[in-house]
Amino acid sequence: MSRDKGIITLRIAGLSEGVHEYAFSCRAADFKNPELGDPCFCNDIHVSAVASKTESEITVDIETGTVVDLSCDICLEPLEKELSGSYRIFFVFGGSDAGEEDENYRILDRNASEIDLTEDVRETLLLSKPIKTVCTGNPQCAVYHEDENGTDEKPKESMSRWRESLEQLKNKYH
Ligand SMILES: [Zn+2]
Repeated sequence: MSRDKGIITLRIAGLSEGVHEYAFSCRAADFKNPELGDPCFCNDIHVSAVASKTESEITVDIETGTVVDLSCDICLEPLEKELSGSYRIFFVFGGSDAGEEDENYRILDRNASEIDLTEDVRETLLLSKPIKTVCTGNPQCAVYHEDENGTDEKPKESMSRWRESLEQLKNKYH
């Protein structure tokens, strides 16, 4: 099976040096192999990419924006939330392997005709989703917010206790 063509690709063949802007609009269903695996992405997804080309590299700034359907983690009240994400990638022409460990630095063939950003857009979208969703101004969620303050204290406490016992251990073995 041949690989699906990316849905977010920048045509860079013959691109002149300078700043170039691209805009895309897509849906979660457009992402395939793998899919954009989160049901909250059910509305139009807007993607803008700004490519700055120099002699040696193309810097691409991706920005994503969409409205997601979430629900409050506590009271399960449905919530609509506007999400925006951003990501910067450096495509270096025919570079060495030196920067390869950094995910944001990629080597680009000088003859490449396009840059596929589909994977990066997918990740930017997934990362823009908040880890915790709670509704605001809902008295039924107030209980939770008190809890939250309470749990904030606990890790510190157990951390210091942990340090204490570590110190005791150290003393034992010295
Ligand atoms: Zn709630």
